[in-house]
Amino acid sequence: MTRPIFTALLSLAFLGGDAAAQQPRTREMNDLNWMEFQELVPSRVDTVLLPVGTLEPHGVANNGADNTAPLAIARSIAGRVNALIAPVLPYGITGSLDGYAGAFQISEPAYRAFVGDLLKGLARQGFRNIIVINGHGGPQTAILNELAERTGREHRARTLVVNWWSYCSDITLKIFGEDGGHAGWNENAFIQAIDPKLIQRERYSDALATARPPAGSWSAYPFPSSIILYQPGQGYVKFDQAKADAYFLAVNDKVAKLVAETIAKWDAARIFR
Ligand SMILES: [Zn+2]
Repeated sequence: MTRPIFTALLSLAFLGGDAAAQQPRTREMNDLNWMEFQELVPSRVDTVLLPVGTLEPHGVANNGADNTAPLAIARSIAGRVNALIAPVLPYGITGSLDGYAGAFQISEPAYRAFVGDLLKGLARQGFRNIIVINGHGGPQTAILNELAERTGREHRARTLVVNWWSYCSDITLKIFGEDGGHAGWNENAFIQAIDPKLIQRERYSDALATARPPAGSWSAYPFPSSIILYQPGQGYVKFDQAKADAYFLAVNDKVAKLVAETIAKWDAARIFR
């Protein structure tokens, strides 16, 4: 080997080393090709964020708010926790709001089978840490928890399911000075921060909201409002952009910290290494 060629190869190797330290071209699994994916997973990126939600009414926000929110969280935190972002799963177990226009309901057996296969697929791709960012509550949460635990056990993967609005209820109280609700001030604000065009403010009135009934007191199908206040008299939507933006940032920070700390603790305990 002549010296110039050797030098050229050496510098190529260094270039390769630099390239390896660079950020991925994109963190969206939708937008990577198979060769790029192979170079990244799992050697450079072993964490995936899976945003899941559903289509259901959300007051004056978009029916897909439960998809918009977790996808935005994933995009905001993926670089900080060195993760790829799986395509959002936009259909879910909607529950008592499925009678509203544009809402969809996936049956529980179908959802379990599909999400189970989806999580298994992520584990088989080599992701060690599978982080489900859930945008929708009700029975969907318990099912996700159970499927994530089962996938972890069967495939030696480490799984975390985050219900962002619930995990960040302290931030709701801090920023808005009151509790929120389904499609209430907090959730509406989160969407407003992502894209104000998704909020139809001129259609809003407080009459669109109903307080969540105390446990065991009454239930109605379909629920008479899509804005469901956690506490009577709190969470009516106001459209304060500055508070919305502050809420968005604080929620993303708190979720990013939870994901990073959980992975660090798994690593320290050498779980499934
Ligand atoms: Zn929602």
